[in-house]
Amino acid sequence: MAEHESLEYGKADFVLLDSVSMEDFMANLKLRFEKGRIYSYIGEVVVSVNPYRAMNIYGRDTIEQYKGRELYERPPHLFAIADAAYKAMKRRNKDTCIVISGESGAGKTEASKYIMQYIAAITNPNQRAEIERVKNMLLKSNCVLEAFGNAKTNRNDNSSRFGKYMDINFDFKGDPIGGHISNYLLEKSRVIFQQDGERSFHSFYQVTSGINDGADFKAVADAMKVIGFTGDEIQTVYKILATILHLGNLTFGVDGDVTLIENVKLVSVIRELLSTKEENVEKALLYRTVATGRDVIEKQHTTQEASYGRDALAKAMYERLFCWIVGRINDIIEVKNYDVKVHGKNTVIGVLDIYGFEIFQNNSFEQFCINYCNEKLQQLFIQLVLKQEQEEYQREGIPWKHIDYFNNQIIVDLVEQQHKGIFAVLDEACMNVGKVTDEVFLQGLNGKLAKHAHFTSRKLSPADKSLEFDRDFRIRHYAGDVVYSVVGFIDKNKDTLFQDFKRLLYNSSNQVLKVMWPEGKLRITEVTKRPLTAATLFKTSMISLVENLACKEPYYVRCIKPNDVKSPLIFEQERCRHQVEYLGLLENVRVRRAGFAYRQTYPRFLQRYKMISKFTWPNHDLPSDKDAVKKLLQGCGFEHDVAYGKTKVFIRTPRTLFSLEEQRADM
Ligand code: ATP
Ligand code: MG
Repeated sequence: MAEHESLEYGKADFVLLDSVSMEDFMANLKLRFEKGRIYSYIGEVVVSVNPYRAMNIYGRDTIEQYKGRELYERPPHLFAIADAAYKAMKRRNKDTCIVISGESGAGKTEASKYIMQYIAAITNPNQRAEIERVKNMLLKSNCVLEAFGNAKTNRNDNSSRFGKYMDINFDFKGDPIGGHISNYLLEKSRVIFQQDGERSFHSFYQVTSGINDGADFKAVADAMKVIGFTGDEIQTVYKILATILHLGNLTFGVDGDVTLIENVKLVSVIRELLSTKEENVEKALLYRTVATGRDVIEKQHTTQEASYGRDALAKAMYERLFCWIVGRINDIIEVKNYDVKVHGKNTVIGVLDIYGFEIFQNNSFEQFCINYCNEKLQQLFIQLVLKQEQEEYQREGIPWKHIDYFNNQIIVDLVEQQHKGIFAVLDEACMNVGKVTDEVFLQGLNGKLAKHAHFTSRKLSPADKSLEFDRDFRIRHYAGDVVYSVVGFIDKNKDTLFQDFKRLLYNSSNQVLKVMWPEGKLRITEVTKRPLTAATLFKTSMISLVENLACKEPYYVRCIKPNDVKSPLIFEQERCRHQVEYLGLLENVRVRRAGFAYRQTYPRFLQRYKMISKFTWPNHDLPSDKDAVKKLLQGCGFEHDVAYGKTKVFIRTPRTLFSLEEQRADM
């Protein structure tokens, strides 16, 4: 593989290591990083280490080097798997997907952008105007989504605070004709609270025009225009941002037993921005309409409830805005029936850029969801890469040395199983009549899961109320142990927004705002269904994501963050080792080595290489294609490196394949 790359850069493919130990793996990874080789392979999986400096490896000339080439012909690169996914899609009509994983700051989003740029660069050779337009919109959508979905955190100055999956649709010529974006779990709590040193979403600083953010503001507004947002829509977006900023300054006080807004002037500003009636804004902030039997009464909030409502409104408005933006982009870029008629069959390449495993000092509901997502993706990886590989050898009758790997299905079940999984227990606790507290949830967990091998909880000691008692549970994830604090689980799961706010926004005379809040149409007596909980929504979206990925041919990019100080020079051994561990890279190498780098059905193999041997060129007279392939490979002296399955030939090392390719080229 990538034979022309000198050994001074280490092994380009971890499969070629002398021995598969953590030490060898780490030594090779470090050597390559220090030599500026940020990409390596494990078979067809790309391992990427964030260089934290500009690399001159993404230009036009590099793109040309990878275009239409086989993976093993060039040094490891994102472009090589982007090309492989593209070829599979174009030549074999396969839907493919590229799954990019790694922790915050590891380089996922940058990788996804390079992959999209590569695909844009190699398609539409005839410069069809319509296709160029689509490509431009797909690329521009990144800029908009980053403005609204990314923020500066202590780990990454441009951290994606949502998960993103983007399908790109291609016509029969292999040119992009549209796309679809799915977004997952935006970290909306950031709107009202940020850790020290962190910021809210970029978009807020862009409207208030900080030094650098001001220029970005124009870029984002321009991108929105190019994509096709109307002037009214763009205006509304900025009005919503301004509203949320003003809500942040709104405070409540009491006068006797009346709750009131302390800075009433802000209410007028908000009213203006939202195109609603002033009294309605004030009322929605201070009262809650409740139905008791047939009566409808207005119940005054305490200051605490009013503050809670204000924050919930700010978060919900932002989340709604974000989803609406994604939805609008989809409306515009989605392939229409008409396009399918004109362009013929369409195939898809999906790119998944989603949060990696998170283990923080304090882990809450968000980390729990994110880590569950990673369990699901690991399960998919196991199924697709490890299990499938083993099963194929068995099917083909090739002797297989069993590789032990940890199957994390048990943890996936622990979280998502109906009735007894953690999500189910959480939903049940939220439905409790009467006392609904985080402790009730924890007791529920203890009651149902105490014996589970991957679950432990510190015992509650509520008998003595004066004692600070522990409110956490621990999950043994495939990537390591994580302790979650139950504080806030119930609230985040219920994710309550008073109906009064929904009605307020629905009744706005701003049509763009109105459509974001369709459920505000319901009168209080008509609201019967409980909204789905955050956990249920997330679980459903993850299950459908995995189903979607599972029916595609997967390609993987595993991103590693070399240090915590964004330095191009430091390779922090321990930090990296930990990531290699939880990404399951060693197991990946083992399975790959136990196996074969390349496999192909006999007829297809012959089709490609028959010119190499006089026994097979132009046709063979052997009893079967299998015999012909045997004859061909014996002739080349590769007998030791291959195995013959029922329908496929298996080649152990890429070197052999490389040599076959060279002989073929020399013919
Ligand atoms: P998060 O989960 O927080 O969204 P991420 O994995 O998406 O993190 P990126 O935003 O892609 O991380 O990368 C973080 C930073 O690292 C980038 O802003 C950039 O400065 C640097 N970086 C990442 N990849 C590269 C690369 N290939 N070349 C140069 N710099 C890079
Ligand atoms: Mg990112």
